Amino acid sequence: MKGNVELIIDGKRLDGRKPLEMREVEMKVNVVRNADGSAYVRFGKTIAIAAVYGPTILLPKHLQEDKLLVKVRYSMLPFSVDERKSPGHDRRSIELSKVIKNALAPAIMLDEYPRAVLKVYVEIIQADGSTRVTGTNAASLALAMAGVPMKDLVTACSVGKINDTIVLDLNGIEDNNSQADMAFAMMPSKNRVTLWQMDGQLTKEEIKKMIKIASDACKKLYDMQKKAIRGAFK
Ligand code: ADP
Repeated sequence: MKGNVELIIDGKRLDGRKPLEMREVEMKVNVVRNADGSAYVRFGKTIAIAAVYGPTILLPKHLQEDKLLVKVRYSMLPFSVDERKSPGHDRRSIELSKVIKNALAPAIMLDEYPRAVLKVYVEIIQADGSTRVTGTNAASLALAMAGVPMKDLVTACSVGKINDTIVLDLNGIEDNNSQADMAFAMMPSKNRVTLWQMDGQLTKEEIKKMIKIASDACKKLYDMQKKAIRGAFK
């Protein structure tokens, strides 16, 4: 039963982290030569690469809208998990593509590109929990590198409850055995939440605490994103 697996021993998680500690984070931009913008983000053993193409004119014409159409495709590579995952778009990847799109869209100035389309690809190279938030961070960096006008970067992380303890940045085993988990994204400088998904049972106090933990973590990740972008222009 969920919550029964011992995931915290003597105050430390199985990978040695304290409850509110992130895994090691790595961010790089311009990792895909043929994309207009791209980024690599690693949270511990979870690795996402995002590549952005466009904006380009949307054809056929009848599909055009009076604002930019953003298409997001999230996928997990067959070798990204322990047992080979069957390739192709399954129900989970269709859902996560929509989740990531909805997390990013509020930051993009869609009105600036009527009749155009922007394609965002998020590939999970290695999966160990929290892939949607790792992918969201990568996609947001890739959009910025593609020069897409944005109100702010989107920064994301996960928070959950394991062994009755609130923890930041769930890894795979924690995600699979959590009592509750939450995926969270925001535009940090606007203090605006763009994604808030939750699973499990939590009290109002726990939810408030988790939101505070997630937004504090996002502010730190935001500084790393900005540093990665600045590094590309040195
Ligand atoms: P997220 O990756 O955003 O946390 P999920 O809760 O759906 O989204 O997945 C949790 C974790 O479960 C993933 O990060 C990955 O480690 C693992 N996982 C998901 N799908 C598969 C799969 N088809 N095969 C093996 N592991 C998977």
